[in-house]
Amino acid sequence: MQIISAPTEMQAFADDARRTGPTIAFIPTMGFLHEGHLSLVREGCRHGDDIVVSIFVNPAQFGPGEDLDTYPRALEADCEKAAAAGATVVFAPSREDLYGDAYQTYVTLEKLPQHLCGLSRPVFFRGVATVVTKLFNIVKPHVAVFGEKDYQQLLVVRRMVQDLNFNIRIIGGSIVREADGLAMSSRNSYLSPDERRRALCLFQSLQKAEEMVRSGVREAEALIQTARDIISRHPDADIDYIEIFDPETIDNLKRIEGPARMALAVKIGKTRLIDNILLTP
Ligand code: AMP
Repeated sequence: MQIISAPTEMQAFADDARRTGPTIAFIPTMGFLHEGHLSLVREGCRHGDDIVVSIFVNPAQFGPGEDLDTYPRALEADCEKAAAAGATVVFAPSREDLYGDAYQTYVTLEKLPQHLCGLSRPVFFRGVATVVTKLFNIVKPHVAVFGEKDYQQLLVVRRMVQDLNFNIRIIGGSIVREADGLAMSSRNSYLSPDERRRALCLFQSLQKAEEMVRSGVREAEALIQTARDIISRHPDADIDYIEIFDPETIDNLKRIEGPARMALAVKIGKTRLIDNILLTP
């Protein structure tokens, strides 16, 4: 497996692949890789010959006071894990490589960021759309894989790819969970053992909603209230949002008549966690 840090070298690699034939599958990450990331790498292997994993903690998607400086980093271990999962290239640029001092170009979406995570993290999706655009221009993939764990991000990327005519197929990967159900996340490493136990309330509340839908409940408000009750049992769990929405448009739903997504963001102590589930009546 090759490790590339210079954008120009990555572009030359991609140009060469595109000239000679191999399909490039791309998995963008911020590193500190876990099974969730690696499942996307394996999914990429089903769609490409050159499997490029990027590792870059993108400053543009962190707001003031967020965890940019403390975000966990482990490049060497990440490269070993990526290679074992089938990556052929790790692209790990430096901050200066992607955002020089004179940097001033950003990609923004008008509507999708005005929901869910976009409300409490106002610069987040602008940062995501910008870095994904830059990475697409550098890695030049045919296919890119994103996790459903960040469901709104997946919608943002799909929208952006259509709107800006990127000739790239976007594939969504299922959420990978710990044995007890907690969605894997690099940020889980922030949790103390006690917080780790309490963090399970995110998945428990989604699971309860799924169970209620299966037993015939259709009112979104009833599902959301039950989830609130489960999470509110924990004194240091601070709910940012719990919403049920149309999986494509992200418009809120009052009743579950067809497939719907339920998503939530909760702070456990200082750590903000997100999770979501598909609800099918
Ligand atoms: P991140 O490094 O957190 O920016 O995530 C990089 C990619 O991995 C994104 O497409 C995420 O949606 C995806 N991802 C993160 N956690 C999981 C998980 N538990 N299961 C599946 N995909 C995930």
